[in-house]
Formats: sequence, C-alpha cells, structure tokens
Amino acid sequence: MKDSYDCVVIGGGPAGSTAAALVAEAGFSTLLIERERMPRFHVGESLMPETYWTLQRLGVLEQMKSSQFTRKLSVQFVNASGKESQPFFFRDHDPRECAETWQVERADFDKMLFDNAAEKGAECRDRTRALAVRFDNGRATGLTLQTDEGQQHEVASRVIVDATGQQALISNALGIREEDPKLRKAAIWGYYRNARRDPGDNGGATIIMHTREKRSWFWFIPLSDDITSIGVVGDRDYLLKGRGRPADVYEDELVLCPALVERLANAELVSEFRVTKEFSYSTRQQAGDGWVLVGDAFGFIDPIYSSGVYFALRSGELAADAVAEALRRNDTSAAQLGGWVQPFRDGTRWIRQLVDVYYTDEFSLGAFLREHPEHRGNLTDLLIGRVFHDGAGRIFDDLMPALDRARQMN
Ligand SMILES: Cc1cc2nc3c(=O)[nH]c(=O)nc-3n(C[C@H](O)[C@H](O)[C@H](O)COP(=O)(O)OP(=O)(O)OC[C@H]3O[C@@H](n4cnc5c(N)ncnc54)[C@H](O)[C@@H]3O)c2cc1C
Repeated sequence: MKDSYDCVVIGGGPAGSTAAALVAEAGFSTLLIERERMPRFHVGESLMPETYWTLQRLGVLEQMKSSQFTRKLSVQFVNASGKESQPFFFRDHDPRECAETWQVERADFDKMLFDNAAEKGAECRDRTRALAVRFDNGRATGLTLQTDEGQQHEVASRVIVDATGQQALISNALGIREEDPKLRKAAIWGYYRNARRDPGDNGGATIIMHTREKRSWFWFIPLSDDITSIGVVGDRDYLLKGRGRPADVYEDELVLCPALVERLANAELVSEFRVTKEFSYSTRQQAGDGWVLVGDAFGFIDPIYSSGVYFALRSGELAADAVAEALRRNDTSAAQLGGWVQPFRDGTRWIRQLVDVYYTDEFSLGAFLREHPEHRGNLTDLLIGRVFHDGAGRIFDDLMPALDRARQMN
C-alpha cells in the first residue's frame, strides 16, 4: 500500500467497485478498500434493466450473459386480496436486449465488480477497514485504515469516495444523515429451495406480494439453483416490537399471504432468517471539498422496486466521471465533485414517489392502470429504471391527482 493516492474509494459494493474501476481506467492512482473478505454476503438481488449501461461501460456484460444468474424479464404484483397483476414484461415496452436483466447472488456479482476494478488498474484490498476520514480546514485529505491483522496506516488522498453503504461513514461523522420518518421499515428474509415459479418467461420475475390488510409485503426473487430469496417488509415497530423471534413473525406474516403460501407448498427453507431495519434515509449534502458520496452512502429509498443496485452503479459511474475531471483540472471542490448530484436526485425522486404510492393503503395502482391504460408503458419505463430523462415522471400527471382524491376520501 502506498502513502498517497489520487483517489481512495471506501467500500467494495457495486457503487465503490464501479467508481474505483472508472477512476483507475481514467489513469489515476486509485485504492479501493473493503472491510469484509470478498466475496461477502449481501441482500439486494434483483437488478433493474437500466443497470445494462453501466455494466456495459464496465466491460462485464459478457460475464453477466454467460453467468448462472437467473434472467429477469418482468415484474409482477399481487394485491392484498391475492389477485395477480399481468406481468410487466420489459420487452413489451422495449424489445432491445437492454430491457432484460438478472437476479443475482450478490456475493458473486459484487466480487465480479470488485475484481473488475482491479483489472482496470485500481489497487483493491479486502479485509481493510476505514476507521476515520481526516479533514483539514473542512477538506477531506486522507484516512486511517486498519487491516485484519490490526495494522493501522495513514493514507493521503486528493479525493475520497464514500461507498460504505448503510454504514455511511462520512455522513454519520458529519451528522448529515437524515432518516425518513415515513419509511421506518424492517425486513426479515430467508432462502427457499423449490418455491413454485411460473413456467416460461415469467419464471424469473420479481414478484411483490401484499399481505392481507397491507401491513407488510413480500418479495419473491428467483435465484439460480432453484433457490428463491423471499423476504417480508413492514413498519419496524409492526414487525419487530413485542412479536417474538423473527422466524415466528415471518411465519405469522406468511399466513397473511396465501398467494405465497401456495408457492411454498413444496419448498424447503435452506437458510437462517436474517433481519435488517431502518434502511431508508437521505443525506443533506452529498459532496464536499475532497469527498463525494455514492450508492447507499448517498441515500436509500426502499427496496420495493429493486432500485438500490442500479442507483449504486449509476451514482458510482457519475461520481467517477466527476472525480476524474476534478483530478484533471486540479479542482477537487464540492462544486466539481458534486456537479452530477442534482440531476441524479431529480431522476431518483420518481422512484421515491412511486414508493409513496405503494404505501398509500387507500390507493390501488391496478385500478388506476385500468382507468389509465395509456400509463402502463410509463410505469414499465420506471420499473426498467428509466428515470433520468425528460418526461420520465409523466405517469404522475394523472397519478398524483388520483392519489390525492383517494387520500381525501378516507
Ligand atoms: C431489505 C433490502 C432488500 C433489498 N433488495 C434489493 C433488490 O432486490 N434490488 C436492489 O437493487 N437493491 C436492493 N436493496 C438495496 C441494495 O442492497 C443496496 O442499494 C446496494 O447494495 C447498495 O450498494 P452500495 O455499493 O452502495 O453498498 P453496499 O453494497 O452495502 O456496499 C458497501 C460496502 O462497504 C463496506 N464498508 C462499510 N463500511 C466500511 C468501512 N468503514 N471500511 C471499509 N469498507 C466498509 C461494506 O462491508 C460493504 O461491502 C435492498 C436493500 C434492503 C435493505
């Protein structure tokens, strides 16, 4: 390890590995550190089709195509009465290859991206933790690292990219992290073998299923080797307060979701249940002099629409371009490093709004689409992840008034 780099990226998830690969490829000395041993486990297996473009730029599309990952061609919803929506097939909206995507084992996917950063010239070190970022007169200038053997190193860097995910190293240190009080959620999930999948092209679909009374919802994500990731999400207090062991809560919620019970008739649980909570938040500032946030360290919305990895890849890519330009111009100011932030936030807000719609109990998106079939394509566009273009939020012209009316009637 050297004493000084052009760029240090903290966190070897999709956001960090993307940023490190592209800054290194632009010719700058780059260190990527990850505290865990790679490959490491992570939740968040369902990709959005728009990941295609960053995966292409990273040069890993061929690896994706020849991988064992399940092909994801659609998304489907099951409402609280058990009624299934028509699958939203991405290719009905766009027949190109980029409208297909994958359900990934994150350990393998993230390791592929971590190794790719090394191939592009970044120095990649797992089992290396950032203890603290050093600030001099408000400017990030370096950090203290610790290896698994307990050795500490002081490293200087012209730019620091915080890709530490929910750990959010810089925003916690600076006190700029903001929880979203409306989205204090928790999730309990496990892995099943032999859960029933639909035959044919919908077999790889992510299925989002409401429980009766809509107090929680399940994700159903078909992975390779006939394993399916199945998790329940609900308000933190509803799921975790005074209800006993997570496994019991999970079972209780499952009973409220007959469509899922039916899919699990011949399935076998092959993992422990895992729990996570309070994963939705934003940050008041996303870049400063000498530092920039990407991925979940920047903010996280809610897992319903599987947008997390896509936004991690995309923000990693946009930040990398800003960092490379900053290093070239020798201007590592907040303005230069964060020039991409506002347009990125403008796009991601459409998914935030769609999350809001899903959690408005008195509103039915299915009924809205029956009334406004012309918006089915606009919704599919959002499910694909196409949020960064003019007109991306067209559906909300009619959706917001309908939502307001539904809220007023209750
Ligand atoms: C319940 C749930 C379900 C989800 N489902 C989906 C889904 O289906 N599809 C989807 O796209 N997204 C999903 N997500 C979101 C997705 O998991 C994240 O958005 C994505 O992993 C973010 O990538 P990242 O690179 O920003 O962070 P991460 O993938 O979390 O990577 C951050 C890395 O930083 C490392 N790190 C942390 N602190 C330090 C430190 N001090 N020093 C060194 N390394 C450090 C961590 O070990 C970690 O490996 C889900 C999230 C939740 C909570």
